[in-house]
Amino acid sequence: MSIPAIAVHGGAGKWNVSEDVKKKALTVLRRAVDVAYDILVRGGSSLDAVVEAIAILEDSEIFNAGVGSVLNAVGEVEMDAGLCTSDGVVGAVCCVKYPRNPIKLAREVALKTDHVLLCGSNADKLARALGLDPHPGPSQRVLEKFRELRSRIDSVSYWRKLRDVLPLIERGGTVGAVAVDKQGILAAGASTGGVWLKLPGRVGDSPILGAGFYSSSRAAASATGLGETIVKALATLRVVNYVDHGLSVEEACRKVVGRHSKVFGRGTIGIIAVDYRGTVVAVHNTEYMPVAWRTSEKSFASFKGIQL
Ligand code: ASP
Repeated sequence: MSIPAIAVHGGAGKWNVSEDVKKKALTVLRRAVDVAYDILVRGGSSLDAVVEAIAILEDSEIFNAGVGSVLNAVGEVEMDAGLCTSDGVVGAVCCVKYPRNPIKLAREVALKTDHVLLCGSNADKLARALGLDPHPGPSQRVLEKFRELRSRIDSVSYWRKLRDVLPLIERGGTVGAVAVDKQGILAAGASTGGVWLKLPGRVGDSPILGAGFYSSSRAAASATGLGETIVKALATLRVVNYVDHGLSVEEACRKVVGRHSKVFGRGTIGIIAVDYRGTVVAVHNTEYMPVAWRTSEKSFASFKGIQL
């Protein structure tokens, strides 16, 4: 019998928001770990714990995932999500518009199809066919932010101006979870609306195995940050490999985030990880990464993990 543990994050970034929003974000993260921990102590699977935790964050509207997803350059929601377990379950979806909870569709891909990744309108068709809840459309907050960002961009010199505008855009708010259950099975998952004003069709790290999420029988990791850099680094695969070769989860995350800062600069990544003993860690090179976790020893929630 293993000792269960669950950790969630709400996205690495600047989190330039009011104290009120920060408070709400931590409250939702705490609720997500409480619900997931309850699943684990009652003997449920780490896969279900991760999915239920992420679904709560997707439903909250506060994070850049599910209902709160940011918009692409033409004002559409296009979401990515993925998950895996240490016993071989892998499922992911990218560029989906229909589901309220892309993480639930990722689980359906893993458990009900022979595939690991479905994209776009055909993944949406599956979500409809399986009776998953539909996305309600972008919230007022998201629409206002989109109008503000778009108003700064002249359509003729789009790319040059977009480059100027990008530093002003607050990335962050993607969600992820990692867990280990009583059977010693580990799971990792990630869900995101991607990055503001992305080109339609852009896919980030969150639905890519080894980039946004990964697990072995010793450790599971979930990443957030600038997706293109995380895909190039295969960040979660590296974390898990380091643990498989004897490093602690903290040493592994520090090593991967430290290297990421050197190669891609600071402000680019955050990772949460858990090992098979239930040790949890959160490391980021951004200003903030709200996290919460529950283990047999500790219940924790903070706007920062270990900041490098
Ligand atoms: N990693 C996500 C993406 O690039 C965004 C984020 O984590 O903030 O799609």
